[in-house]
Amino acid sequence: MKLIEAWKLQVDAQNPKHKVLIRKLKSKKRKEIAALADQLHQVVFEEIDCLDCANCCKTIPPILNDTDCRRLSKALGMKEKDFFSKYVRIDEDGDQVMAQTPCPFLLANNHCLVYESRPRACRQYPHTDGNQFAENLNLHAANSKHCPAVFHILQRIDKQITSP
Ligand code: SF4
Ligand code: SF4
Repeated sequence: MKLIEAWKLQVDAQNPKHKVLIRKLKSKKRKEIAALADQLHQVVFEEIDCLDCANCCKTIPPILNDTDCRRLSKALGMKEKDFFSKYVRIDEDGDQVMAQTPCPFLLANNHCLVYESRPRACRQYPHTDGNQFAENLNLHAANSKHCPAVFHILQRIDKQITSP
């Protein structure tokens, strides 16, 4: 919980610094960034339990591809067209996304009602493990406003780059 509280207090002030950091990272070798971020991903997620947070599920409607919609309607025992009209909207970029935030499948204890069948976007968020961090550099400054883990990974990368 300590890291989540620290994120709430610092996120707005640190965001401009994170944008500068991302610009710096873009000039570095992808392999080098991936190795650094992957190690910090493991460390930060040992200190943050997503069940204490669920802020992504509360604030970001996940993209739902056709496979996600098929899998979810099957898991819920619904016809795909009924699932679509109840849970899907088209956003301003033309993507199919969950129609409501917080997500209708988020339970009061922060568990996901459809965890085994959750959308691909939910499985991949916050794009910080393996090569994902290096492949999604453009997302992290904005995601750090929603996700304490991204925030702390960026803070620690910044510290390592500034004083290695
Ligand atoms: S916002 Fe980040 S830390 Fe919070 S639940 Fe989502 S992935 Fe986990
Ligand atoms: S489907 Fe599950 S993991 Fe995805 S946003 Fe909804 S509650 Fe969160």
